[in-house]
Amino acid sequence: EPIIQLVGLGKEFQTSNGPIKALDDINLSIERGEIFGIIGLSGAGKSTLVRCINYLEVPTSGDVLFENQSLSAMSSRQQRLARQSMGMIFQQFNLLAQRNVLQNVCFPLEIANVSKKEAVERAMELLELVGLKERAKAYPSQLSGGQKQRVAIARALATNPKILLCDEATSALDPNTTKSILGLLKEINKNMGVTVVVITHEMTVIEAICDRVAIIDQSHIAEVGCVTDIFSGP
Ligand code: ADP
Ligand code: ADP
Repeated sequence: EPIIQLVGLGKEFQTSNGPIKALDDINLSIERGEIFGIIGLSGAGKSTLVRCINYLEVPTSGDVLFENQSLSAMSSRQQRLARQSMGMIFQQFNLLAQRNVLQNVCFPLEIANVSKKEAVERAMELLELVGLKERAKAYPSQLSGGQKQRVAIARALATNPKILLCDEATSALDPNTTKSILGLLKEINKNMGVTVVVITHEMTVIEAICDRVAIIDQSHIAEVGCVTDIFSGP
């Protein structure tokens, strides 16, 4: 059962050198509960694709269906709710430097008008889940890269999303830290039933955790399938 469907999705950017087609006629289904990888070279359109899924970028053609409902046809309130169902993490973590770990994780709950008490309770649960309960009062600058990404994951899970979108989430991390973050994503997928979408330029990341993968090349989907079929050696 698909949780996300991309239907003839296109995105064009207007630049001083004329239009750039970042995505062209993308058709893709992401199933509920899977770990789906999107791999491609730099500039292929991966980041734009994942940002269209949660409408951080509005597509210029085609449509995104979330749980069979068209995002473009939703009211702004429904769009906001759909967005809350999609957490996102980034290569550079994007934590708020002026806020401590706990305040970072509480932030999306504040925006969602959750009471302070309830927000703190939920945030502490999530910090325990990611192994950072003891660092709740620390500031991002005091954390390692892996710890920062753990905080970002806790923050992304705060509103109880159905999907976690990961944009090069391990690209700034060393191999061992990458392994531990991928392990955490796998656990979240398995134990919480969160669908995970992983964007990367690294094959090792796809092989480590993805069920299925789409290869994106120059704004197009070149291939989609099970990781074992697509990347099996000769
Ligand atoms: P990837 O994530 O695979 O590196 P992107 O989605 O970031 O690729 O970019 C795809 C193409 O779209 C690139 O040619 C990039 O320069 C262009 N692009 C992305 N964002 C913008 C933007 N805001 N304005 C203009 N061009 C953009
Ligand atoms: P780094 O190597 O940059 O410190 P890691 O992602 O390896 O970052 O670990 C961040 C913190 O989380 C560390 O303090 C580590 O002890 C802890 N940690 C690692 N894996 C787990 C886990 N599965 N459960 C709970 N805590 C963990």
